[in-house]
Amino acid sequence: MIKEIREPLIFEISAAGKRAAGLPALDVPEKKDLLAGVALRRELEDFPEVSETEIVRHFTRLSQKNYCVDLGLYPLGSCTMKYNPKINERLSAHPAFAGSHPLAPVDLIQGNLEVLKTLEGFLCEIAGMDAFTLQPVAGAHGELTGMMLIRAALEARGNARKYVLIPDSAHGTNPSSAHICGYTVKEIKSNEKGTIDLASLEQAMTDEVAALMVTNPNTLGVFESDIVRIAEIVHAKGGFVYMDGANMNALTGIVRPGDMGIDVLHINLHKTFSTPHGGGGPGSGPVGVKKELVPFLPVPVIAEKGGRYVLDFDRPESIGRVRAYFGNYAVNVRALCYILTLGPVGVREIAEFAVLNANYIRKSLEGEFDLKYTTASMHECVFSDKIQKAFGVTNLDISKRLIDYGVHPPTMSFPLIVHGALMIEPTETESRRDLDHFIDAMKAIAKEAQENPEILHAAPHVTYVSRLDEVAAAKFPVLRWEKKP
Ligand SMILES: *Cc1c(COP(=O)(O)O)cnc(C)c1O
Repeated sequence: MIKEIREPLIFEISAAGKRAAGLPALDVPEKKDLLAGVALRRELEDFPEVSETEIVRHFTRLSQKNYCVDLGLYPLGSCTMKYNPKINERLSAHPAFAGSHPLAPVDLIQGNLEVLKTLEGFLCEIAGMDAFTLQPVAGAHGELTGMMLIRAALEARGNARKYVLIPDSAHGTNPSSAHICGYTVKEIKSNEKGTIDLASLEQAMTDEVAALMVTNPNTLGVFESDIVRIAEIVHAKGGFVYMDGANMNALTGIVRPGDMGIDVLHINLHKTFSTPHGGGGPGSGPVGVKKELVPFLPVPVIAEKGGRYVLDFDRPESIGRVRAYFGNYAVNVRALCYILTLGPVGVREIAEFAVLNANYIRKSLEGEFDLKYTTASMHECVFSDKIQKAFGVTNLDISKRLIDYGVHPPTMSFPLIVHGALMIEPTETESRRDLDHFIDAMKAIAKEAQENPEILHAAPHVTYVSRLDEVAAAKFPVLRWEKKP
């Protein structure tokens, strides 16, 4: 296979005096040194000098080396890399939203506040909660906010308590959020179905426990079918139930967390409600609560008074602000646009297709790849490399080889309770054709593992670089260009 030609650094293309823009000669006197001594940066001496053609081609070529959800399936488990409709982008970039100043007086931003209030209302309806705050800007930020609300409510009752219970199938951010909020984490074991073991929960749940944080569906892609009983056990000892609802695309329009006994949850709008979020942002992790927790919500709360929207700061029990201004406003606009374009039937279809697609992949690959937990899948399924290990092939080899077949690798080695995990979440936006392409690639790789494992060990073969030292690439990236003497 022919490797791509190496793209030079922009500094290497640079030649003194080249310009990307040319203007006609001035017909007015030139004003010189306007910035001198104020903002003229001396250290920009080696700034690249390139023509317009060179700069456009350089960045276009770089962008084509990237994989993105606009190119094909991106089955990263727990990340919900669905296709994001372009109308969301058009709308969120509308000058009425993008050009609105976050410090503008409330009288001038009534429409902007109506957008947020309307979204809060839809989220309450979809999740079955009494109120939402849109301030948190990521799932993990929502978790921290939710745990702060629980702490505040328990303090108001007279005792913040000590522990937070977290199942071993939870998302990794959950224990971090509980810890940052000052709680000690106790792990609850999963049973052979991949759900919370009720006997262990009953034993661990004491009046020292502030909350249970449950990811539902959990990171095995399994629905906690005993959730109502689980909530009863926690409530009986005066604790709260926090639900990590990052992957609500398995539930929307079918079940509501609020009806299952959940007291607090966050939703990842950038996943379930459609914002491009590869590479770390932007996000929005709104938190929904039941009545008892409403007084503690972050300020300001958007309220209605005399037919107008106002910002209510007069909330003595509030945990305060968790984010400047109005959170990631543009992500919230995208989510509202997405919900309105889908309508109630479409919102239900999100979950129906997410579950259908994950189970189609699971059924098609069962037998070829090992499945530790055989409980029905929701939005994702978790295979492992157990069968391929016999031929010396690991989940890393399988993932790297997928790149040669034109597919993004799945999430790997997570959740930790499945050794050599391959966590596959196709999402609801993939066609039968794209799913079949992925399944065919996985089957081809299973065959290669038996017949020609060497090709897998050396994969990928079609990229400019093959196996990187991933730890060094993350910990010691080379970001500075050194001019050659
Ligand atoms: C993605 C995810 C998170 C974290 O969300 P961020 O926006 O990346 O902070 C938390 N829990 C679950 C289950 C997730 O899938």
